[in-house]
Amino acid sequence: MSIQIDKNKCISCGKCRNICPGNLIYNDLRGKAFIKYPQDCWDCTACVKECPAQAIKLYLSGDIGGNGGHLYTSQEEKGCLVWHMVDRFGREEVIKINRKVSNRY
Ligand code: SF4
Ligand code: SF4
Repeated sequence: MSIQIDKNKCISCGKCRNICPGNLIYNDLRGKAFIKYPQDCWDCTACVKECPAQAIKLYLSGDIGGNGGHLYTSQEEKGCLVWHMVDRFGREEVIKINRKVSNRY
């Protein structure tokens, strides 16, 4: 599995590059993000959660039942992270997570 970045959606904010714990994301000459070492990505989803432009998708492999499905997030409501789970047929399920509660230990 790995992420894929859509350069057409990327707004060059740099958030994914700053948060990736493996320093795997770089900017091209236009400031658009790209993953340089996709084989080293361990699918932590940190960059997926940070992206304000829905430009990053995490592809789900067959061994966890993904079969070509993917995940991305949006931040439609203040304080909420919205997960979009899209299966290989394009069917989408949405789960809203309250960030304050989900980060409480
Ligand atoms: S999923 Fe995690 S390891 Fe992979 S590119 Fe994004 S932040 Fe880096
Ligand atoms: S977080 Fe999203 S919009 Fe910002 S640089 Fe990365 S891919 Fe582009």
